[in-house]
Amino acid sequence: MKDEAGPETLKRAALEAIAEHRFRDHVYVVLDPTGALVVSSRDLPAAIPTSSQEESSRVVDSDSFRALVESSSRADRVLQNVKGEKGGYRGYVRHFVENRQTYTLVVLQSLHSQRQMFEELAQTFALVIPIAVLLASAGGYFLAYKSLAPVVAMSTQAGRIGAATLHERLPVKNEKDELGHLARSFNQLLDRLDQSFDRQRRFMADASHELRTPVAILRGEAEVALSRPDRKPEEYRESLAVLRAESQRLTHIVDDLFTLARADAGQHPLSPHDFYLDELVADCTRTTRTLALAKRITLNCDAAEELPIHADEALLRRMILNLLDNAFKYTPEGGSVSVAGRREGGEYVLSITDTGPGIPVELQPRIFERFFRADKARSRAESDGGGAGLGLSIARWIAEAHHGRLELARSDASGSTFTAYLPAKSAVSALTAG
Ligand code: ADP
Repeated sequence: MKDEAGPETLKRAALEAIAEHRFRDHVYVVLDPTGALVVSSRDLPAAIPTSSQEESSRVVDSDSFRALVESSSRADRVLQNVKGEKGGYRGYVRHFVENRQTYTLVVLQSLHSQRQMFEELAQTFALVIPIAVLLASAGGYFLAYKSLAPVVAMSTQAGRIGAATLHERLPVKNEKDELGHLARSFNQLLDRLDQSFDRQRRFMADASHELRTPVAILRGEAEVALSRPDRKPEEYRESLAVLRAESQRLTHIVDDLFTLARADAGQHPLSPHDFYLDELVADCTRTTRTLALAKRITLNCDAAEELPIHADEALLRRMILNLLDNAFKYTPEGGSVSVAGRREGGEYVLSITDTGPGIPVELQPRIFERFFRADKARSRAESDGGGAGLGLSIARWIAEAHHGRLELARSDASGSTFTAYLPAKSAVSALTAG
């Protein structure tokens, strides 16, 4: 019985077991305690010193196989690659004890199929990756071209838009996406620019139109005066008086235009200082008293309260005088004009009321527009002060430049009231601090 458990029995048992578990790409090897081959599922002489086979015909590299077996002496189980035919093997080593003898079981799994798979994969990738990269690049280029096409179209269109074609707009394909939003914002910017250019053009056209009349009168008057050499001194004096009146009117218009042009450019400097608004109002009424007397207009001033202010006195004077000028201009003889100044909360309220004919309701919203005149014939006929329709625009700009406002408070058949509201806060603090 004891003999039956000897090496031969073991070899037979191992061969049977190997036969039962035979797989095409697995090699089973059993080595005895000396390292000699007991049994192998294939020729495996590499690690076996008794082998007589040529190295070239061996399935594993003998050094590599020996290294695997040797490393198993240091550990119970070893898993390690072994060089050999067709890509080598993955080697697994385990020891087992039979008849108090330690045997070594080596299982080698061929890496051939894996290697083959990797090679096939590598070949596939070598073919597929360049194609995929090529396709991805082409797709990317196409997508980029498609998505950037509207931007290119927009920039081409934007490049075409100039001062003369400001009415053109960028096409907005999809209002909701980012490009649509960009195009809309750009179009809104063009709208604002267009309006501003339009205002500027109208201003230039109106300004040259307004200047043409006094210049034509000056020229005509001078030509008439010079047409005959034997004129009487009175005739020359008359002509000179006309020339003086027209040049005064011209100066007035140019001055107003210059003020508005500078205001538009944000270049009209304010020179604020501390003074009393009630005193300025009283001073303006004194200045215009002769105008009132000439037209037998009763002029009332009601600004008894002290109204300290920190503002540009020259500009506020100009605003009050513009309003007073209009009041006298449009109030018939025997009428009355009154100026009132008072404090209301944080504001100074300045009202100029006349007993003129009033402004037609439908024209009231337009009276602050530049060059607007409700009654053109009448305004122009008054050569000693017939304005160009700029007085109220300038007055309103002055109020707004002081963070205030100017409104037509009332206008009907019994007369008109213009009211300016100016903030008093900065004035009070400036004056008390001083
Ligand atoms: P203008 O130089 O013609 O007076 P303004 O800008 O001062 O220009 O006024 C614009 C227009 O408003 C005037 O032409 C006139 O028709 C009307 N207007 C202004 N103030 C009065 C007023 N106090 N009474 C009646 N109409 C007025």
